[in-house]
Amino acid sequence: MAEGRIPCAVPFCRRTADASKYEGPTKIICGKCWRLGSAAARRAYRIARRRERLLLARYERECTKAEATGVAIASKRARKWWLIRRHLARAIHDSWERVRIEATERKGGIA
Ligand SMILES: [Zn+2]
Repeated sequence: MAEGRIPCAVPFCRRTADASKYEGPTKIICGKCWRLGSAAARRAYRIARRRERLLLARYERECTKAEATGVAIASKRARKWWLIRRHLARAIHDSWERVRIEATERKGGIA
């Protein structure tokens, strides 16, 4: 494996991605393998990512407001946000993993 490259997470796929385009240690599925995943799994991932983007933007706004007004986010609210973030992280992880497994299966079927 060349330095600064991340291998595709689908076994036997030899494609890699540029590590400098990603933050920290991360796993990737290359575009070719991604398209082997079912439409349903890819859609679930896309929706989870969109929810993350929208909800985190809202969370940021609440934090900014709390800073500006000096009124801290209530602990109940903060806990709710923690639960939302955990749920989102799981939804993203699970749908991503589903695409990876489906792509691996389809690759195995073809090879
Ligand atoms: Zn791949």
